Order: sequence, then structure tokens, then C-alpha cells
Amino acid sequence: MHDNSTTATTVFDKIRAGTIPTKFVYEDEHVLAFHDIQPVAPVHVLVIPKHKLISCADFASTDPAIIGHFLQKVAVVAGKLGLEDHGYRLVFNHGTHGGQTVDYVHAHILGGRTLAWPPG
Ligand code: 5GP
Repeated sequence: MHDNSTTATTVFDKIRAGTIPTKFVYEDEHVLAFHDIQPVAPVHVLVIPKHKLISCADFASTDPAIIGHFLQKVAVVAGKLGLEDHGYRLVFNHGTHGGQTVDYVHAHILGGRTLAWPPG
């Protein structure tokens, strides 16, 4: 688990701080959700925990209650986006092979069309 005070500032830290124009969709004490700036599906929303982690690899060393709250709110956001009936995909990219570009853990909620499998 990473200490908020010692990790590098990312674009998502700036979004949290309100210093970058962002289309927010949900916020509560645990999470912040906003539209991806380069959507790859008709609905492409990112959800970040307010308890900052670098990547999903940090889940292994994080209080399960924090992870549980985060995942629960990801499902709440997907529901608020109206994606439950037709379905959606959750993606966590980790590291180089995973294609992670922002070092602040985030769930991609992708929906609004049928998504291909396997991913490229
Ligand atoms: P990753 O590749 O790390 O899994 O996903 C990072 C995502 O953040 C990408 O889909 C990218 O489009 C998105 N992103 C990068 N910069 C910004 C930004 O300034 N605002 C928003 N809303 N999304 C961003």
C-alpha cells in the first residue's frame, strides 16, 4: 500500500483537487467517478478510490474493507449509468503489459455497445 503523501502527483490527483476540467458523474466519501477524456466506448467512466493506491497490484496489501467499498461503489456508478440491463465491462490496467498510463488505481467502466473479446 502506498502513502498518499509520498507518491507522485498524477492527472487523477489533479482531477480530485479540481484543477482540471472534468465531467464528473458521481462522488461520495469513498470514490470519485468521471468520464474518460478519450472514450473507447459509448460509455467510458473512470472510478478512483479516495484512498489513493497506485495500481490494482496494491489490492494485495490493502485493507479489504477499503477495496470492498471501492468495488461496491464501482457497481453503484455502473447502475447509475444505466448499464445493468445490457451489461458492461470493468477493466483495471496494471503496468506496461496491462497498458496502465496513470499511476492512480482506477476502474474503467465500459458499456453502451457489445465489446469484443479477447482484448487487443
Ligand atoms: P490507463 O491506461 O491508465 O488504464 O487509463 C488511463 C485513462 O485516463 C485513459 O483511458 C485516458 O484516456 C484517461 N485520461 C488521461 N488523462 C485524462 C484527463 O485529463 N481527464 C480524463 N477525464 N481522463 C484522462
